[in-house]
Amino acid sequence: MMPQPCWRFDNSYGRLPPTLYTRIGPSPVAAPRLVRFNHALAAELGLDPALGEAGEAAPLFAGNCLPEGAEPLAQAYAGHQFGFFNVLGDGRAILLGEHLRPDGGRVDLQLKGAGRTPYSRGGDGRAALGPMLREYLFGEAMHALGLPTTRALAVVTTGETVLRQTPLAGAILTRVAASHLRVGSFEYAARRGAAELRALLDYAVARHDPGLAGRDDLPWAFLAAVADRQADLVVGWMRVGFVHGVMNSDNMTISGETIDYGPCAFLDRYHPAMVFSSIDHGGRYAFGNQMACAQWNLARLAEALLPLDPDGLARAEAVIEGFGATVTARHRAMLGGKLGLAALQPGDEALIAELLDWMQRTGADYTNTFRALSDDPDPPLPQGWGERWRARAPVVDLMRRHNPAYIPRNQRVEDALAAAEAGDLAPFERLLAVLAEPYRTRPGLEAYQAPPPPEAPPHRTFC
Ligand code: AMP
Ligand code: MG
Ligand code: MG
Repeated sequence: MMPQPCWRFDNSYGRLPPTLYTRIGPSPVAAPRLVRFNHALAAELGLDPALGEAGEAAPLFAGNCLPEGAEPLAQAYAGHQFGFFNVLGDGRAILLGEHLRPDGGRVDLQLKGAGRTPYSRGGDGRAALGPMLREYLFGEAMHALGLPTTRALAVVTTGETVLRQTPLAGAILTRVAASHLRVGSFEYAARRGAAELRALLDYAVARHDPGLAGRDDLPWAFLAAVADRQADLVVGWMRVGFVHGVMNSDNMTISGETIDYGPCAFLDRYHPAMVFSSIDHGGRYAFGNQMACAQWNLARLAEALLPLDPDGLARAEAVIEGFGATVTARHRAMLGGKLGLAALQPGDEALIAELLDWMQRTGADYTNTFRALSDDPDPPLPQGWGERWRARAPVVDLMRRHNPAYIPRNQRVEDALAAAEAGDLAPFERLLAVLAEPYRTRPGLEAYQAPPPPEAPPHRTFC
């Protein structure tokens, strides 16, 4: 029997000024095949879980046929990439529209890898299986870690080849997001004109900050709301050792969700200067720079909003400076939580700094060092540190909620993706299952906690 997917589309983005997008559908592919369907996410969205077993799922998530109510388009946006402004847009993604969940919440449904658009520039509009499964995996891992993130509903292969360094299996990922509005969306609208900018602001406020509607300081109240979400997000990344790797302003959402899992990776040995991306030569997006990068992007958002209130410069600057203070305070409190300390006292900051400094000098594993505080009777710690820390009566439960036992270990991810590309999805499925419960240590999963051997070459990511 044909499942009832229960799509409920309402495509509000397509009611914005038409300069902000191009109406275009996905380009059909040769032989779609469903590789992965996210049953849990489908249930949250009010979709029939049987959709994952249905024959029409593959052509649907490949863009060969459209769900009822979809009105596909490619979004225009701009962005600062490694500090330099570029006009961008969905070069390989098609927004099918917005689906209303049973609880009334609105999500974007986007096909990534769905073909060329007017924003493709030199690109082929396509994606390869490995990177799409990687995005699926990291999205699920982040979600289970408790961090806001875009998620994948499905991955299909296309039956076509994409040419990268070598020929690879083509794939399409269905991305679910609170919205795909980015800092770069505002940078684009600002360059189109005041009407577009105002329309986009009102739209973003209606979608993400409805409580702010009607305020006479709307641009700056909105900027502050975005800053608040981004502060939480980046501190969350720092908590779990996540290096985003490409914090360009087009990869920073207004919703506060993590987006773009191209070159990201989790820390193994701790170092604030740690970089994984093969193109981040200057270390711009290093682990310890992420809070400053978020602030830099918020300054780009402030600049974009300024034409709506040219007298608001001081207010904008106050928000940006306030972000610096907020994120620093939340970062400190978060590190306290990792040590099991609910409220910091004088001397605690030195305690935290000493541990981090020791980890950096000894190349200690970030995840395992913190998790050992609650899980090991005799954790490896700097000389004399443990006594002072224990004297502060750390709370085990707090540590276990702040310190994951399982993160997507780089070699594990690479091995799972290589196996999947060779047709064996079992390691990928096992890794997903481990990462679905990152805070609960289970016997038999020690191999998933293993850091790379000391002689392993530094991990590199590509996008
Ligand atoms: P990213 O580095 O993933 O944030 O992407 C930056 C820009 O490049 C965005 O406008 C993407 O749509 C575009 N892009 C990335 N890959 C492709 C591709 N294969 N074909 C066309 N556009 C692409
Ligand atoms: Mg991107
Ligand atoms: Mg990308």
